[in-house]
Amino acid sequence: MTLTTADIRDALSTVEDPDLHKDLVTLNMVKDIRLGGDSVRVVIELTTPACPMKDKIRGDIEAAIAAKAASRGLELSLVEVDFTADVRRPNEKVREQSTPLPGVRHVIAVGAGKGGVGKSSVAVALAVGLARFGARVGLLDGDIYGPSAPTMLGLDQIGTAARGNMLIPFEVHGIKAMTIGKLVDPDKALIWRGPMAHGAFKQLAVQTDWGDLDYLIVDLPPGTGDVPLTLAQLLPLTGAIIVCTPQQVAQDDARRAVRMFQQLGVEVLGVVENMSYFLGDDGKEYDLFGRGGAEIMAQTMGLPCLGSIPIHTDLRANCDAGTPLKNWDNPRLAASLDRFVQNAASQISIASMQQVAAAPTLTVR
Ligand code: ADP
Repeated sequence: MTLTTADIRDALSTVEDPDLHKDLVTLNMVKDIRLGGDSVRVVIELTTPACPMKDKIRGDIEAAIAAKAASRGLELSLVEVDFTADVRRPNEKVREQSTPLPGVRHVIAVGAGKGGVGKSSVAVALAVGLARFGARVGLLDGDIYGPSAPTMLGLDQIGTAARGNMLIPFEVHGIKAMTIGKLVDPDKALIWRGPMAHGAFKQLAVQTDWGDLDYLIVDLPPGTGDVPLTLAQLLPLTGAIIVCTPQQVAQDDARRAVRMFQQLGVEVLGVVENMSYFLGDDGKEYDLFGRGGAEIMAQTMGLPCLGSIPIHTDLRANCDAGTPLKNWDNPRLAASLDRFVQNAASQISIASMQQVAAAPTLTVR
């Protein structure tokens, strides 16, 4: 007696995706099953190439198939699990909501309660980090008051281009990017009245030819101003990520940013603690600002903590030099960035399976 494809599907129907809490068959993640003598090969399609649960899923599949074989008195010589990924669109209701960017699967806002906490650095790391895992990623520098993408992505020598009335995004470091910083005089003060801010942001977002993207990361201006409201009204957002440093004052501002997104009907996917601790050249970790503060804030607000990123000279230097990929040359920095990127990808998948579209609401009292 040998195992059949139906037996393998049966075994896979007992394996749960640890994030999505449904089994692989129900989630339609089983893409291929090949049987050959005493070996089995399965192909599993994940909801993100940055899935942090690959090893756990692989182990669970191997165990489930081995158990199925054992129940028939069989022993397999090989169970091979291959992964592919297809970033799924948010659920039906969100999909029905009309979007000016139909080729973009997820729009993710990156916000912060105040400036200087590393929001732009983290947005760049998230975009480039997701692309390193194989996702198609865009970065919209929505900080129209203080765009940092020209420096952080090293766009100085690259000219702008347009096709018709559409801007062609810059293709750098494996991502597509757009910033107002390349469209105006770099030394000009960017003063926008409310309606102008709305118009400028809208044009950048929808008059850029993003093409097909898995994730569009939007780096918002700090605080709770006009741009997040415009964004929430303009594009169906899968969620927002809040960047916070550990200090109490930073937490207080971050809490306000969380509340703002929630008032706008935008799910907060989690909080990332930047400048969590100082990682010295001696390899030691120094607690400067009260490590873990943002994590505690996240917990008290019932939000996931997506990770903690150390203060590291390389990160500052790579931001200044416009070489974000070099952050992955340092193994410890790379590990903390990847952990954050993978946790964020996980929360995006979870949110998109659960969400119903919410129209932004704002009550002014
Ligand atoms: P924000 O967008 O919140 O204003 P930025 O991302 O522009 O903040 O960061 C402010 C400065 O701090 C930049 O010079 C950046 O390189 C630096 N920086 C941010 N995060 C880190 C970090 N984890 N380690 C070292 N430098 C950092």
